[in-house]
Amino acid sequence: MSLKERDKKHLWHPLKQHQLNPDSLAIVKAKGCILTDENGNEYIDAISSWYTCMYGHCNDYIVEATHKQMQQLDHVMFSDFTHEPAIKLSEALIKILPENQNKIYFNDNGSTAVEAAIKMALQFYFNKGEKRSTFIAFENGFHGDTFGAMGASGLSVYNGPFEDFLIEVKRIPTPNGSNHQDILNLLKEYTSKYSITGFIYEPLIQGAAGMKIHDINGLNTILKYCKSHNILTIADEVMTGFGKTGKYFASDYVETKPDIICLSKALTAGLLPMAITSCTQEIYDGFLSDDISKGFFHCHTYSANAVACATAFAGIELLTSEEIQLNIKWINESHKEFSEKIKNHPKVKSTRHIGVIFALDLNTKMERYGDLRDKLLKFFMERGVFLRPLGNTIYIQVPYVISKIELQKVYDIIEACLDMV
Ligand SMILES: *Cc1c(COP(=O)(O)O)cnc(C)c1O
Repeated sequence: MSLKERDKKHLWHPLKQHQLNPDSLAIVKAKGCILTDENGNEYIDAISSWYTCMYGHCNDYIVEATHKQMQQLDHVMFSDFTHEPAIKLSEALIKILPENQNKIYFNDNGSTAVEAAIKMALQFYFNKGEKRSTFIAFENGFHGDTFGAMGASGLSVYNGPFEDFLIEVKRIPTPNGSNHQDILNLLKEYTSKYSITGFIYEPLIQGAAGMKIHDINGLNTILKYCKSHNILTIADEVMTGFGKTGKYFASDYVETKPDIICLSKALTAGLLPMAITSCTQEIYDGFLSDDISKGFFHCHTYSANAVACATAFAGIELLTSEEIQLNIKWINESHKEFSEKIKNHPKVKSTRHIGVIFALDLNTKMERYGDLRDKLLKFFMERGVFLRPLGNTIYIQVPYVISKIELQKVYDIIEACLDMV
């Protein structure tokens, strides 16, 4: 029996209505930018498997570093012990994170990085004897699927059953260059009516919303307002982190730095699950006390797994290498050329690109999980490219190690699909 058939017996996949769509493609191998299925078909992974394996799948350098760590120390509880892989990783991260970040807290995935950030912000004020309970977040933001993260997400496509159980969040639109004043008015209204804990945001680009890029100056105005009203700022860099925007972090583009940053996805290069919530010394100091209960009693069993730490450290070594930095530059140049070429096509409404991210909006209405989207997915896969449209947005987020030939193939297939829609 094929893997595809065996899969159906016991497995339940995420983001799927199994009754309508029972099949999942079985992948047996991933190397560099290429995924190979059980029938030997190859696909270019043009979205880096949800922006994780940015240095290519099974990257030799990272695999080697991971393997070496596995033979030395696998896992030890992080509430009582420490180890060199975590220490080395914290030192490497603090070097590249925005300069106000000074403490590294470990989680398991993007959602729990956000969850910890939300709890940190709430407890930071609780420890001061201030009860603050409301958050501010962008419309159409995405922050994950655990309860806190789900509440912060404005993009609640199918959150119906849970809506009564979510944290209190007030929404503002993303800055577009001409709505500064409207946003400031909303912020003023919210701060006068509610006790605001924090503002959580995807800096510069909203990923799940369709790689929507917003105005940097506008974001800076919001962050400045938050700082001056003691509203903690939480940058969710789970998608944007580690070089995808052309800088190490999207927050590097913005003058005002966040108090807390959430990291995951590319952190461990697609090899192992891990996440980090970093923060400033000031946030950390808010938990220091003679009273034990003022500590941060949030923990995951696999916190700072030594193997995952070694993997992440190797990833940062590659990210900061000249080779990868040069790759990010040429990919960006190449996106720019493709954008010029395609932006006036009648089926294309608009294009945008930054770093290794490219996105185009189709001139068609498209459901997030509808017929046209399924047809497009099939069209791409039949031609050997894995792309996963978000609504009417087709986006590329290729591994930094993609070859010119592979990237050209991705562009060609996107151009070809325009004749079909
Ligand atoms: C993917 C993502 C998350 C959630 O991460 P998981 O690892 O899937 O829980 C949170 N925030 C952003 C911006 C993301 O892209």
